[in-house]
Amino acid sequence: MAGLLDGKVAIITGAGNGLGEAYAKLFAKEGASVVVNDLGGARDGTGADVSAAQKVVDAIGAAGGKAVANGDDVSTVQGGENILATAIDNFGTVDILVCNAGILRDKTFANTSEEDWDKVIKVHLKGAYCCALPVWKWMKDHGGGSMVLTSSTSGLYGNFGQTNYGAAKAGIYGMVRVMSIEGRKYNIRVMGLAPGAYTRMTSDLPGRIGKEPDPLSLPENVAPGVLFMVSDLAAEHSGKILGVSSRGVREIKMLQTGGFQPGRPYTAQEVAEHASEVFFPNAEERTAATA
Ligand code: NAD
Repeated sequence: MAGLLDGKVAIITGAGNGLGEAYAKLFAKEGASVVVNDLGGARDGTGADVSAAQKVVDAIGAAGGKAVANGDDVSTVQGGENILATAIDNFGTVDILVCNAGILRDKTFANTSEEDWDKVIKVHLKGAYCCALPVWKWMKDHGGGSMVLTSSTSGLYGNFGQTNYGAAKAGIYGMVRVMSIEGRKYNIRVMGLAPGAYTRMTSDLPGRIGKEPDPLSLPENVAPGVLFMVSDLAAEHSGKILGVSSRGVREIKMLQTGGFQPGRPYTAQEVAEHASEVFFPNAEERTAATA
């Protein structure tokens, strides 16, 4: 049977573990040649070991798929360029990019150090820039392609203890919105992803410690949603953000109310009096834990 990604070349960053590993294995199974990038460090971004990427490449090869490992750091311009070069040197082009690499350094805002702030912003937000820009330029000159940038409910809704991470992930949301508009004329599609899965990043969330993971919460159950996003099946959906988790697949959207529109100068007191027009009724509080 024809695969959804037959003949395509995909780059997946941070694919040595967790969600990226599941995407790499599924994309390869669907016919893509895959660049498995991973720096191979610890959850907080310290350390480096290319064996993380290599083990995924070996597993893909053993299953009859095509993949190559890359151990570059996504958060440097040189790293992003090297990752693209790995795709071109080994497979001749790139059609798909999933920016997935990430780290965590959770602290309440009062306790956030400058070092932790900079590191988290650098890996997630600058990392998306460093990897997407060279690929973007390649796609622009070679007929287009599709990108998925990984955001998070932490940035889209907010989550306790994650100002650095939430800021980076909300920044990625902004990148998706702007890049999807600019990408129209080059046939480059860009979607945002807010995943939810049991990985080393989330295994110590409240309620998960010491428990066997719900099988539905494993990365393998997020991968089909992301396969949909990078494939031609999602051709009409550039610029949209999908939440993909054990609860399935859903769109997450920025909305505004009809608002208080006086059409004349107004006072602060009047805004308060028209609160039912300014604010959404029954606004639901959402957190990463419930998404
Ligand atoms: P993970 O820790 O299992 O995988 C992240 C991978 O990124 C690791 O293999 C790590 O080595 C790699 N990485 C880190 N820094 C890198 C760098 N500078 N260069 C290259 N590779 C680097 O975590 P995961 O849960 O699979 O997360 C994948 C993505 O999904 C992350 O962006 C994360 O923020 C996001 N996310 C995950 C969840 C979830 O529920 N697991 C929720 C929201 C968002």
